[in-house]
Amino acid sequence: MNLIMENIEVFYRVALFIQAAIVIPFAIMLVLLNRIVWKYSAFWDILWIAFASNRLVHLLSGGSYLVTPTGFISSVMITLQGFALAGLATVYLRRRLLLNKLFLLSPFFTMLPLLALGVFSQSQILTGLGIALLGLYGGVLSVVMMLSETVSRTLKIAVAVVIMILAGQTLSLVVIPEGSSLLPLRYVGNTIFVIVAVFLFFSLRVREELVSRQMYQTMANEILENVSDIVFRVSTDGRVLYYSKSFKEIMGNKEHLSPGQQGEADEMNDSLKLETLVGRIISDKDVEEETCRVHLSQVDRWYEFRIRKNDYGHKTVFDFMGRDIQADIEKEKQLQKEREKASELDEARVTFLSNLSHELKTPLTIIMGYSETLREDLPPSRQQMVDAILESAKYQLRLVNDLLDLTRLGSKMLDVEIESVDIEQIINETVEQFRPLAERKHLLLMASTGELPERFNTDPVKLVRVLNNVMGNALKFTEQGKISVMVRRESEDVLLFRVEDTGIGIRKEDLGRIFERFVRISRAGSSRGTGLGLSLAKELVSLLGGRIWIESEEGSGTIVYFTIRDLKEAA
Ligand code: ADP
Repeated sequence: MNLIMENIEVFYRVALFIQAAIVIPFAIMLVLLNRIVWKYSAFWDILWIAFASNRLVHLLSGGSYLVTPTGFISSVMITLQGFALAGLATVYLRRRLLLNKLFLLSPFFTMLPLLALGVFSQSQILTGLGIALLGLYGGVLSVVMMLSETVSRTLKIAVAVVIMILAGQTLSLVVIPEGSSLLPLRYVGNTIFVIVAVFLFFSLRVREELVSRQMYQTMANEILENVSDIVFRVSTDGRVLYYSKSFKEIMGNKEHLSPGQQGEADEMNDSLKLETLVGRIISDKDVEEETCRVHLSQVDRWYEFRIRKNDYGHKTVFDFMGRDIQADIEKEKQLQKEREKASELDEARVTFLSNLSHELKTPLTIIMGYSETLREDLPPSRQQMVDAILESAKYQLRLVNDLLDLTRLGSKMLDVEIESVDIEQIINETVEQFRPLAERKHLLLMASTGELPERFNTDPVKLVRVLNNVMGNALKFTEQGKISVMVRRESEDVLLFRVEDTGIGIRKEDLGRIFERFVRISRAGSSRGTGLGLSLAKELVSLLGGRIWIESEEGSGTIVYFTIRDLKEAA
């Protein structure tokens, strides 16, 4: 004892050195672990950094709290420890209270003034009181943690140990003040406390980590053991690193799959099939992700394997996940059957309608042919009657064709037959067909063309159908004035058609729906129609690569625009 008292300075230094040498590296390690692995609250880091820094300050200052300026620095470090303990208490309380913030910051206006004042006035009582407050914050934290259900038992014990140490240190300061002959005891006690605390905390935390990892691993294993999916991981040399129960059932105890097995898929047994699949994947350098289907004959079911390349440590591995897709396959087959049946029915419907329309068209052609011949030998008064017969027959022919086309469009069976045509000729011929009707209604019928390409690639039959429908409407809904048809080049390979009339027009509210099938506007009820014309025109125009739109004003007339695109690419 005498020896110690004689060399008391050296003794203090050694004790402080041991404390610093233990606390500082451990604090650094704990902070790093927390940042990288545990990811707990940063208040833990503040606690350890402040604790370790204080040890360093003590080592440099010789251990007294009353020496300036190290005493002030120590005051800040001790306050920071109080702040960290208060912070942890608010974190584990998990409830946001206004008081939380006040509690969190309270060390700065309780501990710090007491400690600083203690140093300033060289009062051990004030310093002791300031440090004693650490016990209070530690106490609150331990109560919060003990009550919290989310904190593990090990962490609770670890925290209790740290708090005990802080309290022990505080107590020793009060019981053995500076200048006392028992001071060496305080240093010895302190050093033992610090060493025990740090080791306990560290080992408990690491143990907790290991236990939770092991639990996680066991859980993952249990889940994977029980899934019916075939899950396994192989290294690039074919070694099986992990497998599920279902894999084992097929492969037995095989732990190494050798690539290069070949054979006809039908003749292979299941294990050979999987081996062949693994062999193909691991020998292909470019595989990152792949899906493939394998039929396993043992259970007579199809499996879909999702295969992924992964990094495992420094190694490359392949993960295979095989899902039973038998139900999907059966559903797919069923759907395919239904689709085939539907398409057969659809075909039968179209064939029936084609035959029917052919039967309807044959007599119409005869009526039209004979009427035209008859007309020539008749006096003008009778000719008008024949004209009426002819017109009705033409109208009916158009309807039959519209109906047939719409049916084919619905079944996607309407082919586009592209030819290189002279647009001007098509326009003139179509307009001329309507001339007799226009003359009878005393309407002016005009056709004009802007700049046009010499030849244009389109389906002429469909183009004429669109023109017929649009012009037919213009003539049908116009009683006086004129109808003018115009076509010009809109851009490099697009033509714009414009059919304008001075007829009854269309109300704004009806404009939106006239392209729908079977829609007829009631005002037009007096005239004939089915409501198919414009919807068919719209579909045909879109087949010809264009679009159709209408501008109209009730009472003053209608303009129908449509475009078509040169289809030379498709030709
Ligand atoms: P339909 O002419 O057989 O009735 P459409 O589909 O060709 O059928 O036309 C739908 C409706 O659009 C017509 O009933 C008519 O009310 C209106 N419509 C079409 N074109 C014109 C037009 N040029 N002038 C006035 N109304 C028109």
